[in-house]
Amino acid sequence: MFLVNKLYFSFLSNNQKHCVFLPHKEIFNFMKVTYYGHSCFGVEICGKKLLFDPFISGNEKAKDIDINKIEADYILLSHGHEDHILDAAAIAKRTGATIVSNFEVVNWLMKKGVEKGHPMNHGGSWMFDFGKVKCVVAVHSSSMPDGTYGGNPVGFLIETKEGNFYYAGDTALTYDMKLIGDYKQIDLAFLPIGNNFTMSIDNALIASDFIKCDKIIGMHYDTFGYIVIDHKEALNKFNNAGKDLFLMKIGETKEF
Ligand SMILES: [Zn+2]
Repeated sequence: MFLVNKLYFSFLSNNQKHCVFLPHKEIFNFMKVTYYGHSCFGVEICGKKLLFDPFISGNEKAKDIDINKIEADYILLSHGHEDHILDAAAIAKRTGATIVSNFEVVNWLMKKGVEKGHPMNHGGSWMFDFGKVKCVVAVHSSSMPDGTYGGNPVGFLIETKEGNFYYAGDTALTYDMKLIGDYKQIDLAFLPIGNNFTMSIDNALIASDFIKCDKIIGMHYDTFGYIVIDHKEALNKFNNAGKDLFLMKIGETKEF
């Protein structure tokens, strides 16, 4: 299917790359993913730039990333912890991006001067101009950096004409992931694998079964001491299960 689609794709002009309407099975997945460290990714899909959980200026491992050069139309935030929202306000103010998160996180950022916000909560979905975002359960905690209430942590299931993906946020393994896998075909998933605060490698492998997705991008690992992982072990475990785990380099861009 990939090859056929690649050929099909070669007939399309640059503008046509985005949002070509085809039945899901025929879709050429053209998702451009850039890793900015920890759980922060830029995803270009359907002509829009989505940024997830920006924690860059406080991440020693991402010191070569300049937050002033990151573009975003939407900034999706899984919860209020500093290691997920640190640079959200600065990037949103500079780019005019819309913050998408739970009600409390959106309100907190708007009080900090962010102009555009879209509040959501578990179970709800909304059709944006790039596709549909469904707000799903994440088993974690959420408070804002100043200690105020940060609502409930969330994950995002994103359905577009170029493919579907799941960004789990910070979460434990939960049976609710089976619902997500039954609800939609997922082409790519971002799962935390660093253990201690979230799922471990082994639990992420089970999660990939629950969501019925064999293409996983790992996140929330190596940033600080509690979550350092053995890369070889992680890659082997997924490989032995017949699945692809991608541990992207910070600053790397990859097409899926
Ligand atoms: Zn975290």
